[in-house]
Amino acid sequence: MFCAVEGCSNRKSKSRYFLFPKDAKMRQRWVEFCRRTDKINTKLEKICVQHFVESDFERDLPYELGVYNKPRPLKLKPESVPSVSNNEEDFDFEYEELEGGDDKQEKSLAQRKRIVDALLTEYEEKQTNESLEQDEEITDDQPTEEVVQVVVDADAYLTALERENILLRRENFKMSLANKKDAAEKQKLMQQLEASNARYNNLFTQLEKVFSRPQIHKLQSGKRIMWPKQDLRDAFTLYAASPTVYSMLLQKNYPLPSTRALSQMNNSETKVTQDSFEFEEGSELIEIIDITQLDHNYIN
Ligand SMILES: [Zn+2]
Repeated sequence: MFCAVEGCSNRKSKSRYFLFPKDAKMRQRWVEFCRRTDKINTKLEKICVQHFVESDFERDLPYELGVYNKPRPLKLKPESVPSVSNNEEDFDFEYEELEGGDDKQEKSLAQRKRIVDALLTEYEEKQTNESLEQDEEITDDQPTEEVVQVVVDADAYLTALERENILLRRENFKMSLANKKDAAEKQKLMQQLEASNARYNNLFTQLEKVFSRPQIHKLQSGKRIMWPKQDLRDAFTLYAASPTVYSMLLQKNYPLPSTRALSQMNNSETKVTQDSFEFEEGSELIEIIDITQLDHNYIN
């Protein structure tokens, strides 16, 4: 039996092979994976187990739960597509332990672990019982035998651990690939953020050339603010030059103090008010704070 994948060196007769799927789209994806220059006879040729990952297979729950001693033959999920190419030799591992199969010496990884754990527990229990009943002489032969037994199974346990290690390395490899992808994505986003910050700072610098900070604050928040005296004085100059233009600018939402705020400033500075200010009697007097002293904590 040969594998349909180009360059696959799997020649194990024991290996499992899988027929190409019946669904045309799926079959095409399998064919593409094979990277063959000649035509594949998808009715006869097969792909070996080494090109699939563990998650491509259906779980064998009865076996995992210990209902059956032997696992059932591997069964691919309908949506599975081969993904492991032969150049990933470092992560090449045998699926035989998953198959169980006919080889009686090949106990599955899970089975081995269970057996070793059971033996160790049994051994520990016996030791404890013996130390409790230590009135009698200790029989010399039995413990020695058991120690040998545990050593032999520890060897099997080690083999099982080695296999598990290979599986974990494979998983780790996949995760590091995913991490690299995430890191690249993150870097891209950081660059976008930096670019957008630079644009924002540039815009802010340009705005600062035209407007005072309280004015920018008013533009940003759109709320009423307490104007610092300097802004009020500047606005007053503008108002004095042309009240009509000033009103027009206010209507166009320029960040300027209201005419009422100007008149109040005028009053509080006890200057001679001009008739052009419309100051209603009885209206609340708003305290004007010089917020330039307040470390840019403008009051809304
Ligand atoms: Zn193969």
